Parts: sequence; C-alpha cells; structure tokens
Amino acid sequence: MVLDKLSDSLKNTLQKIAKSLFVDEKLINELIKDLQRALLQSDVNVKLVFDLTEKIKQRALNEEASKGLTKKEQLINIVYDELVNFLGKEQHRIDIKQKPFKIMLVGLFGSGKTTTSGKLAKFYAKRGFKVALVGLDVHRPAAMEQIEQVGKGANVQVFSDKKIKDAVEIWDKYKDEMNDFDVLIIDTSGRDALSKDLIIEIEEVNKKINPNENLLVISADIGQSAQKQAEQFHKSCGITGVVVSKMDGTARGGGALTACAVSGAPIKFIGIGEKIDDLEQFNPQGFVGRILGMGDLEALLEKAKEVIKVEDAEDLGKRFLKGDFNLIDLYEQMEAMSKMGPLSSIVEMIPGFGQLKLPKEMLQTQEGKLKKWKVAMNSMTKEELEEPETIDGSRVERISKGSGIPQSEIRELIKQYRQSKKMVKMFKGNKGDMSKFMKKFGGRLSMGG
Ligand code: GDP
Ligand code: MG
Repeated sequence: MVLDKLSDSLKNTLQKIAKSLFVDEKLINELIKDLQRALLQSDVNVKLVFDLTEKIKQRALNEEASKGLTKKEQLINIVYDELVNFLGKEQHRIDIKQKPFKIMLVGLFGSGKTTTSGKLAKFYAKRGFKVALVGLDVHRPAAMEQIEQVGKGANVQVFSDKKIKDAVEIWDKYKDEMNDFDVLIIDTSGRDALSKDLIIEIEEVNKKINPNENLLVISADIGQSAQKQAEQFHKSCGITGVVVSKMDGTARGGGALTACAVSGAPIKFIGIGEKIDDLEQFNPQGFVGRILGMGDLEALLEKAKEVIKVEDAEDLGKRFLKGDFNLIDLYEQMEAMSKMGPLSSIVEMIPGFGQLKLPKEMLQTQEGKLKKWKVAMNSMTKEELEEPETIDGSRVERISKGSGIPQSEIRELIKQYRQSKKMVKMFKGNKGDMSKFMKKFGGRLSMGG
C-alpha cells in the first residue's frame, strides 16, 4: 500500500484513542506528539506539521462533540478532517467538456511524464473517450520509441515523429487529424531542473496547443522539496494541477503530497506503480480515510464499548431511571461508578449522550472526594439529604462546622447534585433510546460470550 509506514503509525495513534477510556488533555497531548512524529518521518515540512497539529489540538480541546458522536469519535474525526484539509480538502476532478480535450504533461527528467501519459490515456479510454497520445519529447533519443510502447499498452493511437526536432512542428503536422479525438494526452520533454530552456519550450508549446489542463508530474521521492518545484512551475508555466508519481516507492510521499497541496496547484492524480493501471484520481477524503484505516477504526470503537460489563451498565441505567433522586442516591451512584471506571466511557455509549458536556468533577470523582462528601452528609439532617434544595447558606455553614469539611466542598457537592439531577431529567426524556441501547448492548455481549 501507498505510504504504509505513515499509515501504520497513524493507525496506531488512532487505535490508542479508540482503546483509551477517557479523552482528556493528556491523551490529546499524546496524540499530538504521535501525529508530529509520524508526519515528520514522512518528510512533511516541520512548520506545516506544527501548524496542523496546533489546529488539531485547539479543536480537540475546545470543540463540543457534534451530534451523535462520542468524544473519542469526535477526536478521531477532527484528525481526519484536518488531514483532509491539509491535503487540499476537495477532490479536483477533470471535466472533459470539449473536444478535443487537451491534457499536457510537463515536468523534470524522469519524473514519470511518459509513464503517466500512458496511464492517463488508458484511464480516459476506459471511460469511453476516444483517446490519442501525442509525443512531443524531441530531446531524448529513445523518447519516441517509449511513447509508441506506452501507446500500445494503452491501446490508443500515438502521434509523434522521430525525425522532427521541434515540438510545435510535430503538433502542426497532426493538428487536423487530432481533431477527431475526444482526449489528447500530450507528453513533453523535461530537463534536470527547471531551466530557462525548459520554461521557453513549455511556453511555446503552451501558446501553440493551448491545453485545457497543464499537469505537472512530480516524483514523490523528492519529499517536501516538491513544494518549491510545484511553486516554480506554477509561476513560470501556469500549471492547472499536479500528478504525484511513484507514491508506491517512497516513505517520503506524505511530504510530497502536503507540499504540493500548499503550493496552490491541486493534486489531481497519483501514480502508484510502474504499470499502466497504477494511477488514481486523487481524492483527499478517500485517501485520508484509507491511510487512517477508518473502516477498521469503526470496528475498534464498537469493540471498545464491549469492555464495560453489561450488568454494571444495566444497574446504572436503572438507578438513573428510578427518578427519586436525592443526595444519598447521588452518593451511591458515584460510589458504584467509581468502581466501574470513568463515567465518561459509559455515558459516551448512550445514544445522544456523547455530545453531553458533563461536569468534569462528575467524570473524575475520586475516592478522596467521595469520602469527604460522606462525612459531610453525616452532618446533614434527613430532610437535607432527601431534599437537598433546602440546603441554604446558613445550613452549609452549619454542616461545615459539624463535619469539619470546608464550605466550598459542600457547595461543590450540592452543585454536583443539581447537575446530576439535570442529567437524570434528560435521561428520562431519552428513555426510548436508553432501553434500545441497553438491548443492543446486552445482545451483543451475550452473543460474544
Ligand atoms: P519522464 O522522463 O518524466 O518521461 O519519466 P518516465 O515516464 O520515463 O519514468 C521514469 C521512471 O519512473 C520509469 O522507470 C518509470 O517506470 C518510473 N515510474 C513512473 N511512474 C511511476 C510510478 O508511479 N511508480 C513507480 N514505481 N515507478 C514509476
Ligand atoms: Mg519521457
């Protein structure tokens, strides 16, 4: 697979998220470090990496989970989203909207122009267009033989002439004949670097042919220096898009892709092998999805949910649904939850509750705090325990004196109670969802043993 090293490390990173019980700042920081390491290893430019990961971090820390997503899913989604943006966001398809539609390939020696011209010829022929190849590489002695070969492979007609040493002349020679075709793929000559000679030649051919698409072919193995090359060509010859070739043969492809994406010239195709079918239309969404292994990830997220025991979840559900909710219930529930692990992991599984912003204290209830609250509750009257709304300022003061627990902690307990009560109300409103969830949850677990 293309970029398999990058893909492996990104997958590992996301699996860590999927397996963790809890999305917190520590996990986010770890994620950011992992992402940076993975992208830098793929030769992505340092500044780009830091800009990207900073964006991910800010979103991860500040954004509410969108509807229907758990916090974990949300986090994974942010990574996916930003990587897609990073690679140009949208797919830039080529619309064949006139005849003949002229696609010209430019680029340095050995970047893969001739190979790509054959791939493109086959690509469009397969889609029902009448395609011809035009060989305008007049500098390399063997170029014309190569394009004949490539034309055979794609099963399309080739227009070229070994004897003519001027690209424009070759074009003129076949101009009328070529009008019969839907798509013309035009292969040109390259140089070792973008030189004056090359610019002049491209400009001349450009003026003469007036291509609908002027695609720069860049070899992925040059990594992040692809940016400079793309920008130079863009400025000098007005390219309309990039083909990144040889994505199969290098670990630096991430660098090449991201570098091209920021150059302002959209990536339209990638070459993924030497054979004629080894060409893909570049689609950032599909590409990132594949690199991250989104399909596997979904399965993993599902599986992670099974870790929590069904009895505990059912018990908790019943307690919540019971309704009469007082401080004693709150205490009992918190005690039960603290045995089960982080509450967030349970709440996240309940349809519609993933996006609920739960009080942090509630998600991190610690033993120590529970003990203090228990002491404070021992100093409360029965009325106060059953109807915590009656606890006003002077009562807080009294309870604090009686128990030795600071007033602030008692207020926190009451605040927590109110927030929990609000939550219970929402739970009740969501009863349908809740029981469906329980069924689904129980069913899967009993099937899985
Ligand atoms: P040109 O000088 O720009 O026309 O480059 P060529 O088309 O002649 O390609 C140069 C070399 O790169 C050849 O050996 C091709 O087989 C190889 N090549 C081109 N595209 C790809 C690709 O996507 N993957 C791999 N592995 N090799 C490629
Ligand atoms: Mg060539």
